[in-house]
Parts: sequence; C-alpha cells; structure tokens
Amino acid sequence: MSLYGAVEAGGTKFVVAVGEKAEEPREIERIETSNQPAETMAEVIRYFERRGPLAALGVATFGPVDFASGRITTTPKLPWQNFPLKASLEQALHVKVGFDTDVNGAALAEARCGAGRGLEDLVYFTIGTGIGGGALCGGRLVHGLMHSEMGHLLVRRAPEEVEGFQGVCPYHGDCLEGMASGPSMQERWGVPADQLPPEHAAWRVEADYLAQACVNVACVLSPQAVVLGGGVMGQAHLVERVRRRAKELCNGYLPLPRIETPGLKYPGLSGALLLAMEAVG
Ligand code: ADP
Ligand code: ZN
Repeated sequence: MSLYGAVEAGGTKFVVAVGEKAEEPREIERIETSNQPAETMAEVIRYFERRGPLAALGVATFGPVDFASGRITTTPKLPWQNFPLKASLEQALHVKVGFDTDVNGAALAEARCGAGRGLEDLVYFTIGTGIGGGALCGGRLVHGLMHSEMGHLLVRRAPEEVEGFQGVCPYHGDCLEGMASGPSMQERWGVPADQLPPEHAAWRVEADYLAQACVNVACVLSPQAVVLGGGVMGQAHLVERVRRRAKELCNGYLPLPRIETPGLKYPGLSGALLLAMEAVG
C-alpha cells in the first residue's frame, strides 16, 4: 500500500503524520509553529525525509489561504503572511501536495470515514481557540472567492448573554468566534472554559450560539450532518444542548441536519491524508 504524508498546520503547532489509510494516521508528531516559518518548515521536511518515499502529501492548514498560490494570506501571525506553504513542501519533498483549510480537510474526513460516513453534504466546525467551519457540498469541498469562514458568521445575542459583553473577535467583536470560542468564554466568565461546571449558564449561552451556527448553515447549505469538534466540544453534555436549542430556534420550519461530534480521533490529520490521496487521484 502507498504511504501518504499529512500536515495539519495550526497557529500554535503543526501536527505531522504518515499513513496508508485515512482513518489511521500514525507516527504523529507535534512541531511548534515558530515565528520563523523556515525553522518550522525545516522540522516538517526532516520528519518526512526520515519516513521514506511518499506517494503524496496533504496539507490541512489554518488560514486564510489563497488556493491558487498555496499561500497563507492575512493571518495575524505576521511572519507567516504570504508564506508559500504548498510550494515549499513540493520543492523540498518532490511530491504532489493536496492543499486545503484544516476545517475543509476535517469535513472531508468526517464525510468519508467519520461521523458522516457516506454523506456528500456535511459541515464541520471546530470550536477551540478560534472557530472555523468547512463544508463539503455535493461531494466537493466548497471553494468560492476563497473558502468558507464560518467562524465569522454574524449571530444575535443569546437570551442569557452577560450584559455588556462585546465579544473577542479582533475584527468583528461579536461574531460567532467572538461570542463562542474558548477565549470568549474565559473573557466572559473569568475562568477557562474547561473549568465551568456543566450546570453553569455558560453552557446554555454557548449552546445557543452553536445552535445558531447550525441553523444558519442548514439554511444556506442544507447539509445532512453538522459535525462539531475542537477543544470546547470536550464537554460531553454540550452537543445535546446544541441539538435541543437548534430545534427550538428552527421552530419546525426545516428538517435539521444531524448534529454530531467527530467520529474520527484526528479529523484534521485524516483530512490531510485524504487530500494527499486526492492529489494523486
Ligand atoms: P486550538 O483551537 O488551539 O487548535 P483546541 O481545539 O484544543 O485548540 O481548543 C482550545 C480551547 O478549547 C481553549 O480555549 C480551551 O479552554 C478550550 N477547551 C479545551 N478543553 C476543553 C474542555 N474539556 N471543555 C471546555 N473547553 C475546553
Ligand atoms: Zn469575527
């Protein structure tokens, strides 16, 4: 069987792996995202050089990205702005590189071999330090003018929102990421999200925003499933709250997509392996 490489590129860490099957990334290693891209890339390249010839490499990356040039564009991580991530790997490793956003990769993986196995229409959100969303529509990852940026969906105030809370998105304040990311919970409630007990109002507020996101994507893309991943979804009670709230918000108007947590242990890495496989047909 052919060996594929996977890179999940993030603002704090790059995670690299190899694998023959998408659902089984192995030899997983973490590499710090340095302020000097050349340093990080040298480590990534060394990792793959040690693992023998790859049939192809897949990169599922933080963004925003420009698909035509394979570059990261306007990231607040300034040294990475305009960095030619795809070309630098192609040139150093002499392989074809499949390239997409981390959340598009995760959407692809969850649709092919995760919680939405077999579906052609699926949206994946990660709710962590930031919020991102990727979409598979009719079996194809959505690329338009650029790619989906569902973390910046505009949302309305939750009924139990703390008065005066303005949100933490540096661009919009109170967009989805501004109101529902891990850091927004810490800012609003004064403790890290993982220390808020399940009965805390924080989780009703959080579920409201995530439910708005699910209903909004149901209205726009009509996916069969929405998969919610990322650190904040580590709260086992949260997904059921989101389902209930989405039903209330929808008020019987539409059939709602299934709302699930990831079926894969490493949706981003599995996505990167699938992007590698797709790069060589
Ligand atoms: P990143 O988004 O940086 O890739 P994560 O998806 O792990 O990383 O998200 C980190 C965020 O998730 C932090 O804000 C953290 O407080 C929050 N988080 C991590 N674990 C939990 C948990 N079990 N419950 C709630 N929030 C959590
Ligand atoms: Zn925003």
